[in-house]
Amino acid sequence: MPKNNFEHKNNNRQGDNKRKYYPRPQESAPRARASVKVKKPENFITLLLIIVIIASVIFMGVVFRTEIGIAIKNIGNNSTIDIDGGNNGANTVTLQPTLNEPFDFVVNETELEVHYLDVGQGDSIFIRLLKINKNILIDAGSGTGSGPKEVASNVTTFISGLGVTKINYFIASHADSDHINLADDILKKYEVENIYYNDIETAFDKDSTASKTVQDTLEDMSEAEPNATIIRLDPNGRTYEIINTSGYKFTIYSPGMNNFPDDNDMSNICVLEYLERRLIFTGDATKETEEWFIELQKASGNNSLDCDVLKVGHHGANTSSSQEFIDFLTPEYGVISVSVDNSYGHPHPLVMNRLFDKAIVTYRTNRHGNISLCIDSDANMAFIVDNPVPTDNNRLLINQLMIKRGDEAA
Ligand SMILES: [Zn+2]
Repeated sequence: MPKNNFEHKNNNRQGDNKRKYYPRPQESAPRARASVKVKKPENFITLLLIIVIIASVIFMGVVFRTEIGIAIKNIGNNSTIDIDGGNNGANTVTLQPTLNEPFDFVVNETELEVHYLDVGQGDSIFIRLLKINKNILIDAGSGTGSGPKEVASNVTTFISGLGVTKINYFIASHADSDHINLADDILKKYEVENIYYNDIETAFDKDSTASKTVQDTLEDMSEAEPNATIIRLDPNGRTYEIINTSGYKFTIYSPGMNNFPDDNDMSNICVLEYLERRLIFTGDATKETEEWFIELQKASGNNSLDCDVLKVGHHGANTSSSQEFIDFLTPEYGVISVSVDNSYGHPHPLVMNRLFDKAIVTYRTNRHGNISLCIDSDANMAFIVDNPVPTDNNRLLINQLMIKRGDEAA
């Protein structure tokens, strides 16, 4: 059964590639000739017809390629990058893959950016809904702890580098220090409009480190952002649809601390939809949270929830990313936020195997650095990374859609 599901998924993926990305004409031509050979037409007219069709397809492909302009805007530290230099000429971005042959793909002007920031041990994901000028920050990293020192301030350095001064929604997935320690820096530095958090004061021993961090953060929140709307997530669990406009939909699925008193279990699962793309963010959600989420979706009539990019739960720990969750979401790409040389053994080999079995192309902040996902108005995707090393788990040699940061104009 899982094998069949997988085969089906892979077929879909091939279809996606055909529709969205544009192989080089010189690669297409030999395949077309081979196709004529195999068919063995019985008469000359049939053969002529086939040749005319193939020639038309190749010609249309060339014309289409030259008409598409590529501009990736506001990525990383570059405010505007027009790949074709305004010439509207030959302007595809050529990948430099390490696992398969070069493959051109197209990204027009970006309308959605998701930056999975390298914060060492921890999570911080900055999202820009560019058409409506709204920014969302899920978690704020630890600012301290394991990982290279320079990543401690990476969140504010990166966000400021984009010229951003306002965060419309700050969402704390849960109260662990590697997700909220830097929250006070964020609140001091930027205008933050809305804050969503799990109030775990009653769930923790008041003297525990976690509880102290939460209390400190709460005090910082009201001090630093007296005008912000601070939303204490419903302790009994609730779904918050915070954005649904201009094609963007952002939903927080909060399991509630009364139902899930463990700090990781109570992690929110956030779903961002744009055009036909669906991105899922899990914080440190555990298998229990994942089960709750699946049941919630099924109760709404969703027997699966096709996901394009999954932020893999809890830094790749084996307490998350159950087989059932992976099967339910059928993600095509995964992103793991994880520190180099971490003492937790993240990501866990069993999780990596689960992703491998499904050929889920996996990016990791400890290898790729900051990972920026860009989506345009045609739902084309590209991953822009600091370090273009091979992705993990790409056993079917699926297009990585990878561009090195700074090389967008190559
Ligand atoms: Zn964590």
